[in-house]
Amino acid sequence: MGKIRILSDNIANKIAAGEVVERPSSVVKELVENSIDAESTDIIIEVKNGGKDLIRIIDNGIGMSYDDALLSLERHATSKISSVRDLESINTFGFRGEALPSIASVSIMEMITQQKDELEGTRIKIEGGVIKDVTRIGSATGTRITVSNLFYNVPARKKFLKSNATELDHIIKYVSWASLAYPNISFKLISNDRVLIEARKCNTVLERIYTLYGKEFADNIVEIEQEFETVKIHAFVGKPNWTRTNRDYQMFFLNKRPIRSNLLNSAVGVVFKTILPKGRYPIVIMLIEIDPNEIDVNVHPAKWEVRFRDERAVYSDVTRCLLLAIQNQGYIPSIDVSVSNVPSQEIENIGLDKELRTDVSPREPQIESSVSKFLNRQRTTPPNISHQYIPREAKKTERQHYNQDISDLLERQIIRQEKEISTEMETVGDINIKARLFNTYIVVETENDVLFIDQHIADERIIYEKLREQMQKESIPSQGLLLPVTVELSLSQNELLDTIIDMLKNIGFELEPFGGRTVIVHSIPSLIQRGDVKQIVSDIIDQILDSFGKLDRLKLQDEILITTACRSAIQSGDSLTDAEVANLIKELFKTEQPYLCPHGRPIIVKMSKSELDQKFQRK
Ligand code: ADP
Ligand code: MG
Repeated sequence: MGKIRILSDNIANKIAAGEVVERPSSVVKELVENSIDAESTDIIIEVKNGGKDLIRIIDNGIGMSYDDALLSLERHATSKISSVRDLESINTFGFRGEALPSIASVSIMEMITQQKDELEGTRIKIEGGVIKDVTRIGSATGTRITVSNLFYNVPARKKFLKSNATELDHIIKYVSWASLAYPNISFKLISNDRVLIEARKCNTVLERIYTLYGKEFADNIVEIEQEFETVKIHAFVGKPNWTRTNRDYQMFFLNKRPIRSNLLNSAVGVVFKTILPKGRYPIVIMLIEIDPNEIDVNVHPAKWEVRFRDERAVYSDVTRCLLLAIQNQGYIPSIDVSVSNVPSQEIENIGLDKELRTDVSPREPQIESSVSKFLNRQRTTPPNISHQYIPREAKKTERQHYNQDISDLLERQIIRQEKEISTEMETVGDINIKARLFNTYIVVETENDVLFIDQHIADERIIYEKLREQMQKESIPSQGLLLPVTVELSLSQNELLDTIIDMLKNIGFELEPFGGRTVIVHSIPSLIQRGDVKQIVSDIIDQILDSFGKLDRLKLQDEILITTACRSAIQSGDSLTDAEVANLIKELFKTEQPYLCPHGRPIIVKMSKSELDQKFQRK
């Protein structure tokens, strides 16, 4: 090791770029944030090949003078703060003065900028952080920055970029987030000359949600706006029958800045844990406003994370807001607290931790009690209340009863056809079916063992193996739907439309584009006998987008078969006829692997007679 020396600016910038500029979407984020800080009302984002080849941001903001334009490319040059005190109450996105020099150091960049009332603007060309050309040219008011060949001089970084579709997905997500927080700014995203997002200036976040995610999405969320002790929250919470397979639609904004926060994720997790089936995530779009003195945004170079001064207070406010949203949706009957006092142990049922419980209950007792009451009822027999949300585990027929809107029922098409079964009622081969427990487990006696069989996982295994076998033989046979079902795709999913149609066709689903971002489902694999077609198809599509580029095609196909099997299998809580039970057991023992589900969960738990004998001290 030699002498210590100060790094040159160019090297320092490249190091900073390592933190700030992770991928094309980070460039989009930094530049769009600068445009918003510059008071733009119109922002156009143009990208080529997932932003790898070109990213161009055009805004109509205040622009920069000749001197400022040159200065903006210097490290730690910012117009947004000037003293340490300013750091304590930041209300702009930027303040570190790092983004432009960092991006410039790892790309070929051109900046054209002009201030209002100026006759001439400035154009700067810069390559790998070295200024190549500065000229005065006439232009429009605002700034236009073009970043091409990102990471051309950092091959290690370039290698780590994902497929164009994945990088574009990140960009779409970021632009969507920015546009949600700023409905009064118009955003346009163009990818490879195609307009993907055209979000015109509008008045409300809800209108933005409609533009970005479609009517069906907007119809299935509940809006809530409320001031709490520490924060003011404006949130959109999805109904429990409109859930997703991942957290993609859980978005938090803090003072309009999109953030990632484990604290907030866990608040959502805790509130929805007992309401939603495992593996389903609610839609939560939450805009939180907080006094800037209450947070520290300077903890993450790209400012994705923030530190709250009083985490507990924020956690508690967010939780209360979610509970209110759930209550407002109408499927949890409100009860009068003055009449019915819920014993504290019932609160245990909603899985809130102790701290939170003491925090929340005194302030909003009726929310707490209605949720626990609801969950408590759900444990026993479902009450006969309209607007009651019927959990997935409930019997399909019950779900139908509760479903008031007939057109919705047709649309969601819950299939259930009775199979023709000619098996003997209680005995399958040398297996005796003894009992059913909790509408979930089947108890079977064999010569030396008692077997507990999970009806859902067993059916999942059966369907999965059949689909796989059909697939290997030739192709999966389809059945047409009497009433075609429509599914609305997200922007990123729509970009993969051809792939999606193609992959689904392989496994027996026939889809057809239907204008906009809607697809029609005409047919589904004949093996699917139950389940909600819309849910099955949209889960599979989510999965394709999630795994695209991560899994090879065969592996992905297999995962899709698993999802199809899982969603169309008998669910736990479904009541079955004796014949159905017998058939299930018979089919299960025909499978190659009756003991494990495709993801490794056990299907059968065994207890031997000798174990029992031992427990009763017979031996
Ligand atoms: P920061 O945003 O942290 O200040 P940046 O490197 O992102 O640092 O930008 C440096 C400066 O360049 C900003 O403080 C701002 O004065 C100016 N600037 C950057 N982008 C724009 C833009 N689109 N319009 C006007 N000024 C801009
Ligand atoms: Mg900035």
